[in-house]
Amino acid sequence: MVLSTDPRRRTLMSVALLALVLMSASSGVMLLVAGASDATNAPAVQWWAAISVGGLAVMTAFIRSGQTARLADPSLTVPQMVWTITSGAVAYVLAGEARGIVPSVLAMILFFGTFGLSVAEVIGIGVYALLAFSCAVAATTRFSTSPFGYLDTAYALMVLIVLGGSIALNLRIQRIRARLSEQRQALAQALAVNRELATRDELTGLPNRRAMQDLMDLEHRRSLRSGRPMLLAELDIDHFKRINDSHGHATGDRALQAFAGVVRASVRDTDVLGRWGGEEFVLLLSDTQSDDARELLERVRLAVAGMEIPHPSGSLHMTLSAGLALHLPGDTVELTLERADQALYTAKSLGRNRIVVAPVSPRVGSKGPGKPLGARA
Ligand code: GH3
Ligand code: MG
Ligand code: MG
Repeated sequence: MVLSTDPRRRTLMSVALLALVLMSASSGVMLLVAGASDATNAPAVQWWAAISVGGLAVMTAFIRSGQTARLADPSLTVPQMVWTITSGAVAYVLAGEARGIVPSVLAMILFFGTFGLSVAEVIGIGVYALLAFSCAVAATTRFSTSPFGYLDTAYALMVLIVLGGSIALNLRIQRIRARLSEQRQALAQALAVNRELATRDELTGLPNRRAMQDLMDLEHRRSLRSGRPMLLAELDIDHFKRINDSHGHATGDRALQAFAGVVRASVRDTDVLGRWGGEEFVLLLSDTQSDDARELLERVRLAVAGMEIPHPSGSLHMTLSAGLALHLPGDTVELTLERADQALYTAKSLGRNRIVVAPVSPRVGSKGPGKPLGARA
């Protein structure tokens, strides 16, 4: 109820509440001094305590309300620090002979800067604290009845030492934070590259076998839930070895890239083409009827047959054979792939450059003929 359930706001609130508790405790010490010493103005200290704690309480309530979330500094660190430094400088004047307690409180206030000040803000806050405490030292000298003694000098010097030390430490911490943030970014980038490498085929840019397996499993579960048909096709380039043998491996690579590009361009955005390995590809067709899938594959076959891959000694042509299988409810993806593979085998044995649709009753284990389509051996 106090911290809020929003995780970001909870973090801001825990820091703000810590500041409020520390300010209240320090005010308690000041009130103790005011009650015990005749040299301090007790009503002034009571007012000071009420205003100091009250101001921080208002800022804490503002953070809790969520209104600060839209600000550049949602933790209100800068206003909180300006407020507490001002309060510390006033306390330095009001505390009388007990002003020696103030430098340690100042150190604590400046430590809060490590929670999110920029380098410019650290320097700005440092300059402000120097000005505020210079005024406080000047005021104690001006209004004190006793002459400026060695203790006044020591306290003023302690304020300077605490200020210098805190700013130096703060700047060091900001540098470490900046380095950590750079390292985190580099790590996130490396992770993204790694994820890309783990799921993409480098040569064609298509999803690799592993990514394809995940996508097919996902689509299998989706189709079970929705009842919408899913089809799998295995595509294999005909006599690809000859291209490698006659024109070299580099030309073979270029042909594979061109093939992937042409097939991708011939299917719908929702269809997924993946490189299964070598010159074999798998096409996942979701929410598609068998007849539409057959037509689509026929279009792909014609597009590939019409490809011209430029080569120094003319242009290269290639054809593809494919096996298409409807994923049957209750079957595994592996079983459907096996049926598509058998249909592909049939397409090859019937003379290549054709699409064969796997029969709907699974006949795993036998390389039986499927239903050939568009035979152009
Ligand atoms: P079929 O019509 O029966 O499919 O004959 P094919 O020659 O296409 O099939 P085969 O399996 O005999 O040969 C496939 C060839 O594909 C052999 C292999 O060197 C080549 N290959 C596999 N991966 C790559 C690759 O990444 N780049 C290149 N250039 N060639 C590859
Ligand atoms: Mg082949
Ligand atoms: Mg092959």
